[in-house]
Amino acid sequence: MKRIGGWQLSRKVNEKVANLKPSGIRRFFDLIIGREDVISLGVGEPDFPVPWKIREEMIYSLEKGITSYTSNQGLPELRNSIAEYYEKFGFKPDPDNIIVTTGVSEGIDIALRAIINPGDKVIIPEPCYVSYEPLSILAGAEVVKIPTVPDFKPKYEDLVKVGKAKAIIINYPNNPTGVSYSRKDLEEIADAAVELDAIIISDEIYAELSYTFKHTSIASLNGMEDKVVVLNGFSKSFAMTGLRVGYAIAPDEIFEAMLKIHQYCMLCAPVTAQIGAIEALRNGEADLERMRAEYLRRRNYFVRRLREVFDVRMPDGAFYVFPKINANSEEFAEKLLFEKSVAVVPGSAFGECGEGYIRCAYAISMDKLKEAADRIVDFAKRMI
Ligand code: PLP
Repeated sequence: MKRIGGWQLSRKVNEKVANLKPSGIRRFFDLIIGREDVISLGVGEPDFPVPWKIREEMIYSLEKGITSYTSNQGLPELRNSIAEYYEKFGFKPDPDNIIVTTGVSEGIDIALRAIINPGDKVIIPEPCYVSYEPLSILAGAEVVKIPTVPDFKPKYEDLVKVGKAKAIIINYPNNPTGVSYSRKDLEEIADAAVELDAIIISDEIYAELSYTFKHTSIASLNGMEDKVVVLNGFSKSFAMTGLRVGYAIAPDEIFEAMLKIHQYCMLCAPVTAQIGAIEALRNGEADLERMRAEYLRRRNYFVRRLREVFDVRMPDGAFYVFPKINANSEEFAEKLLFEKSVAVVPGSAFGECGEGYIRCAYAISMDKLKEAADRIVDFAKRMI
C-alpha cells in the first residue's frame, strides 16, 4: 500500500481515481471529529428536520408496505409535479424528459457520463462545488477552469476564449459564493454556450433559496431548452439531504443517454424519498417559506457582523457567505478552529481562485450564529 494525499491506494485502483485529490472540505473536517465545543459553519446542510407533513407521508407509505422499486425514470406523479413546479422558474418541461435521481450528485455524474467522450473539454467556472471537477475527470473530460473573482460571475469573453467545449457547468445561487445570476448574466452564458456549441449543465439546487431576485432557469431562455440539462433536488429546499432525491431535466437525446446510465448504475431513486418529494411539491410551500425566511434573517445578521472585519459581498441566495479575509485561507481556518473553536471551510477547497476567502454556512441556529460571529470578529480583529 502507498499513501497519496491521505488516501490509501493499492496499485489495482483505476488511475484517474488514484490521482483525484481528496476533497478540501473532508480533509479539514477530519480535524473536528469528536469536538463538541466547535461551532461548525462548515457543513452545507440545512439545520431543519424534514418538514413534518413530508415525514408523515413517508411513514404512512412505509406502513402501507410501499417499499418496491419504481420505474427507472421515477414515479409518474412525481415527474408530473416537478414539471408543473418548474414553471415558477420559467419553463414547463415535459414529464417524459425528467429523470428522478438519487440527489443532484447523481444527476451531475450521469449528465457528464452521458455526453463526454475522452478528452472533451468541460468548462468549470470557479470557485465551485467540490464534485464538478472530479466527476468531470472520471467521465474522461479535460477540465478547463475559469476563475470568476471578484464578482463570481462567468463572463462571455472568458468562456468563448476556450474555443471548443462539450459542456459548461454552472451553479446558481452558488456554493460557495452565494452569488446568483440575473437574466442578463444568464444571456451572456447562454450566448457563449451557443458560440462554443456546448451543453450547459445547470445545477439549480439552491433555486428556492433566492433572496435578492427571483430565480430564472437558464433553460427558459429563448432557444435554450434543448441545450441545457437542468439539475435540481430536495436536499436543500426541503431539508431532505439524507433521503437522496433529486431530478434531471434533459433534452431528448441526452435524456436517453442519461436514463441508460441511471438504469444500470442506480435503477431508481429510493421510493420512500420519492413519495416524500411528491408531498413536498404538493403541500410544502409554507414550510419552504418558513425556512427561507429564517435563512434570510440569518444572512442579514451574519453579513452585517462579518462586515465589521471583512470585505463581504452580500450573497443573493443559498446559505453561504464567502468573505475575503486577506490571509492564507487554510491557515486562517485552522487557527480559527484551534483558537476559537469555529469551523469554516478554506476558500481554496473550491478552486485555486477561492484562495484568500473562507466559506461560512449559516445553516445553524441564530444563537449559535451570534456566538460564531462574536468569535470570528474577535479573532479577525486581533489578526488585523
Ligand atoms: N450541488 C451543489 C451546488 C451542492 O452544494 C450540493 C450539496 O452540497 C449538491 C449538488 C449535492 O446535492 P444532493 O444532496 O442533491 O446530492
